[in-house]
Amino acid sequence: MLPDIENLLRLQEADKEIRRLRDEVAELPKRVAAIEQRLAGTKAQMEKAQAAVKADEASRRKHETAITDLRGKISKYRDQSLDVKTNEQYKALLHEIQFAEKEIAANEDKILELMLNGDAREKEVKAAQAELLAETAEIEKEKADARQRTAEDEKLLAEWNAKRDQMRAGVDEDLLRHYERVAKFRGTGISEVRDHKCMGCQVMLRPQTYNEVRTGQQTVVCDSCQRILYFDPAKEMNAVEKELKRRHHPKIDAPQAWYYRAEFGDAGEILLCLTNSDGQSSRRIFDMHTGRLLGDILSREGNYRQAFPEDVTGAIRLNGNWTENEIDAWGAEIPMVALDSLHFDLDAARAEMHTQSAATSTHPLSSEHSAAS
Ligand SMILES: [Zn+2]
Repeated sequence: MLPDIENLLRLQEADKEIRRLRDEVAELPKRVAAIEQRLAGTKAQMEKAQAAVKADEASRRKHETAITDLRGKISKYRDQSLDVKTNEQYKALLHEIQFAEKEIAANEDKILELMLNGDAREKEVKAAQAELLAETAEIEKEKADARQRTAEDEKLLAEWNAKRDQMRAGVDEDLLRHYERVAKFRGTGISEVRDHKCMGCQVMLRPQTYNEVRTGQQTVVCDSCQRILYFDPAKEMNAVEKELKRRHHPKIDAPQAWYYRAEFGDAGEILLCLTNSDGQSSRRIFDMHTGRLLGDILSREGNYRQAFPEDVTGAIRLNGNWTENEIDAWGAEIPMVALDSLHFDLDAARAEMHTQSAATSTHPLSSEHSAAS
């Protein structure tokens, strides 16, 4: 890898960290504001509970005044009743007194109701006060944390900015200008190449461009997104390994099975196609390299595992599935597309066996098992 590229990668890391820190610093005042808004909410709730208590007290006083007034009236009526001349007048006064007494009872009921209610209201206020107290303490702590975090971020930012300036000094000026121009528009100025693709814009590279990036002799930019390209061999290896792990494994009881054999009589390397159909099985043998059909198509009773056990033993099982009609239509030769896919799968199966036997070298697996499992 070119030193300029290594420097740019470090610079990109620094740029990313600086952006993250700046975002975090900008985010903190917003967090504090949100915290304070929550506190204001709790405060309003407490004030509402307190106002309700006050309103209850006022209405209790109103009822008490009403009772005092009514009692005054009653004693006035009693005094008057001593001076009445007729029975009718006496009855009228008695009626007024009874009415006032009823009013007093009604007011007393209201007061009792308010007193009962008052206990619940008192509890509400106490709970709101306790909540406010706890929240205030929590918020003070959060604010202190936020302030401390900001201070730490600012310090880190200063350090990263200094490092960044140093890194910039280590990169070729023209390249640096290009990097910064692209980074300004696209967020990043340098991109990895993996599986022939620019990972920044996901566009496939032309073979020549890909080779130039791979050899790492000169700086190359992506035709599509203008990011400076680099190649990391370690990552490419991982991608190949992953691809191998994803290899599809043929089913052991599939009605058709393809195999590779390194030797088959005089024929050398061959591909074997075994097919079950209507209680019978058939066997075709093809030349591994030309795809030509060798010899006659053999048919036997029973499925191919019972009918051709000696052919399957020690062979590498491959992925391949075509209908009997398709294979008949091929005639004397496997078409190129099908042959390529069988070759490709053989490579994958071999690589897979290699990785597996390296991992379990004390228990070597048979080729048939590892390919067909
Ligand atoms: Zn690109």
